[in-house]
Amino acid sequence: MFESLSDRLGKIFSGITGRGALSEADVQAALREVRRALIEADVSLEVVRAFTEQVGARAVGAEVTRSVKPGQQVIKIVHDELVAVLGEEASPISLNAPSPVPILMVGLQGSGKTTTTGKIAKRLKDKQNKRVLLASLDTRRPAAMEQLKTLGGQIGVDVLEIVPNQSAVEIAKRAISTARTGGYDVVMLDTAGRTHIDEELMEETAEIKRVSNPHEILLVADSLTGQDAVNLARSFDARVDITGIVLTRVDGDGRGGAALSMRAATGKPIKLIGVGEKMDALEDFHPSRIADRILG
Ligand code: GDP
Repeated sequence: MFESLSDRLGKIFSGITGRGALSEADVQAALREVRRALIEADVSLEVVRAFTEQVGARAVGAEVTRSVKPGQQVIKIVHDELVAVLGEEASPISLNAPSPVPILMVGLQGSGKTTTTGKIAKRLKDKQNKRVLLASLDTRRPAAMEQLKTLGGQIGVDVLEIVPNQSAVEIAKRAISTARTGGYDVVMLDTAGRTHIDEELMEETAEIKRVSNPHEILLVADSLTGQDAVNLARSFDARVDITGIVLTRVDGDGRGGAALSMRAATGKPIKLIGVGEKMDALEDFHPSRIADRILG
């Protein structure tokens, strides 16, 4: 769809050969292209600015090795910086807490929260042999509760019984006590989403956190989120101190700039990525692959 950064930088540097180091002017020209590539990959402008400054500082004066073209040299610097910002290592979900370990799932409506809850539960059950209890706290959308119940049935994971007219906080408490008495290893709380961030949602999420004391608070976010990604991640993080991010729809056409935006804005790890609608379409996050994708 877009010309790759590598091709663009190749053109800029086509006249330069055999020099010892990248000059300020070379780097400025290259950074313009890096900036364009990041914007096309949907990285938030604020993050683009900070990131290109960082890359610039590293690139000026960098030795150009004879065997590597300057364009490739800049690509390598950009790639390495991307990986450094995205977080170098895979960060698994921690269950290092007394059972039942509460995991709180937060995010906007339609981000893939319920689907991801099912995927993680299936993974914990199949790969780590954990007994998981799922609970939907979406009191406004009965369909969401039914959706989780159906998912649970599909993957063979228990779902907390639906009791009408309970508040989200009451359901959270009931989920924890049911998980405790039932001898579950993990209890996953799928919170209600909204179409956009609002105070009521944040207040409710904070209250659920208070009563459930979650060990992990995972923000589920669509990888196609554009300029809003920073705002979204910051809002949830400021309010409930998320422990990680799960990016969904990484199987789509997007270039994954939201990963960089959210990680840069919060410093919180991207733990997993959703790569499809099926219950096993969940993968560990590999920063280097997303960096390649952002670079195009
Ligand atoms: P929620 O409102 O946040 O709970 O969102 P849902 O879990 O109901 O997901 C909304 C839609 O996105 C559903 O059709 C899911 O199948 C789909 N979905 C969720 N995760 C992914 C993913 O990683 N890739 C793709 N292609 N679709 C996804």
